[in-house]
Amino acid sequence: MNEYDSELIRTILIKEKYEFVQDETEASIVMLNTCSVRENANEKVYNRIHRIRKGAGKKPLLIGVLGCMATNFQTKLLENSRLKIDFIAGPDSYKRLPELIQEVSKTGEKSFDTTLSEFETYSDVLPVRKDGVNAWIAVMRGCNNFCTFCVVPFTRGRERSRSPENIVEEVKKLVQEGFKQVTLLGQNVNSYRHEEHDFADLLEKVSTVSGIERIRFISPHPKDFPRKLLREIAGNPKICKHIHLPLQAGNDRVLDLMNRTYTQEEYLKVVDDIRTLDPNISITTDIIVGFPTETDEEFQDTVKVMKQVEYDSAFIFKYSPRERTLAYKKFPDDVPEEKKTERIVFLNEIQKEMSFRKNKSQVGQIQKVLVEKQQTRKSENESQGRNDAGKIVVFPAGPYRVGDFVNIKITEASANVLRGEKVEMGMERWGMEKLL
Ligand code: SAH
Ligand code: SF4
Repeated sequence: MNEYDSELIRTILIKEKYEFVQDETEASIVMLNTCSVRENANEKVYNRIHRIRKGAGKKPLLIGVLGCMATNFQTKLLENSRLKIDFIAGPDSYKRLPELIQEVSKTGEKSFDTTLSEFETYSDVLPVRKDGVNAWIAVMRGCNNFCTFCVVPFTRGRERSRSPENIVEEVKKLVQEGFKQVTLLGQNVNSYRHEEHDFADLLEKVSTVSGIERIRFISPHPKDFPRKLLREIAGNPKICKHIHLPLQAGNDRVLDLMNRTYTQEEYLKVVDDIRTLDPNISITTDIIVGFPTETDEEFQDTVKVMKQVEYDSAFIFKYSPRERTLAYKKFPDDVPEEKKTERIVFLNEIQKEMSFRKNKSQVGQIQKVLVEKQQTRKSENESQGRNDAGKIVVFPAGPYRVGDFVNIKITEASANVLRGEKVEMGMERWGMEKLL
C-alpha cells in the first residue's frame, strides 16, 4: 500500500512542478513513506533519517515523514530534536503535501496534517507508476476490524471503497500503459463494498477489461470469504489462484483475545471451502507468535493448523506491542523474547519443509509464467517471472521481454524458488494440460 501511495504522491507533487531525483543525496526534500505495524518498521525509519541528515552535511534539506508513523507519532516525531523532521503528513493528507512543504519552506515552522478522513480514496489521482508488469490499485482504504494487536485502524482510519466504475476506468488506463497484471489493494480488501457491489462483483468487473490478464488482491480477512467470492476466484481464469489467508493464531482463546472474529474451526472451514472448489489454489498466511498470555500449549494449536493447512508460504512475526491498541492497554507483553524467538524459529522450520514439499510436488508441471526480469540478480543467463500462484520461477534467459507469458516446465524446486525450462506449446494445448 505504501508503494502505491508513493506513486499517488508523485502525481500530486509533479503537478506542482516538483522534480524527482534518482539519488537522495541530490534532493533538497526527502520524504519517507512509513509503516508503523511493528516496532522494527519504526526503527528502520529512525536509522534512515539519521543517515540522510549525516549524508546531507551542511546542505539545506527538508525531511518529511509520511504515512502511518506520521499519524501514530505526530507530536513525538516533531518534538524529537535529534531527528529534525520538518513536516509530516498522514495517509489521508497527501493532497495537502504541496501546501505543507510551502509552509515550512517559507516560515521555517514545522508543518503537519494527520487528519483522518472518512471519504478520501484518492480516486481522482492517477498514480505515476514504475515500469513493470504489475500495477497496484487501492480499491478500499482503512479498516474497521480493530484486531487488538493492530495499529492500522488508528493510523489509517475507517473503511471506504472506490466505485467499481472508477476502478475499471483506471484498469483500462493501465492496459494502455502496457500493464498485464493488476493487484487490488486494501487493508481489508475483501470487505470492499460500494453501494450494492461487493468484492466478488468488483473482481468480476475488473476481469472484463480486455488486456488485463492477471488479477491479484491483498490483504483479505478470513471473515469475508462468502461462497460467491470463492466461486468467482476459482472460476474466473483471470484471477490468480492464490489466497492469502492470515491466521494470526490457531488457538480459540488467543483468537478471541485478538478479536479476530473467527475460531480455529471456522478458519479451517474457509480453507476447506477453498480446497473443495479448487484443490490447487495456493494458500499463504500471516502468523503472530507470543501474543500476550499465549501458552506453549496454545501455541501448539498454531502448529497444528499450519501442518493441517500446509501453507505454500507464511509470514511469521513476533508480537510487537503497539501504543493505542487494546492489547497494549490491556495486556502486558508477557511472553519472554526468547520464547518468541523459539516459536518463530520452530514455525519457520516447519514452513520451510512444507514449502519445499509443495514446490517439489510441482516438478513436471507446465506453468504459465509472466516474465518480470530478463536477467536475475545472480546471473545474466537466467530470466525470472511468477506463476499464477505468485511463486518465483527461474528459467534460462531467452528472447523474452518483461511482460511476456512463457510456458515453463518445472524441473527443480527449493523452498522459495521453482526452476524450469521453456516448452513450446500453443495456448489451446496449455489449457488442455491444465485440465488434465
Ligand atoms: N489486514 C490484514 C493484515 C494487515 S497487517 C489481516 O487482517 O490479516 C499485516 C500483518 O502484520 C498482520 O497480518 C499481522 O500478522 C502482522 N501484525 C500486525 N500487527 C502486529 C503486531 N502488533 N505485532 C506483530 N505482528 C503484527
Ligand atoms: Fe489490522 Fe488486519 Fe485486523 Fe484490520 S483486519 S485491525 S488491518 S490485522
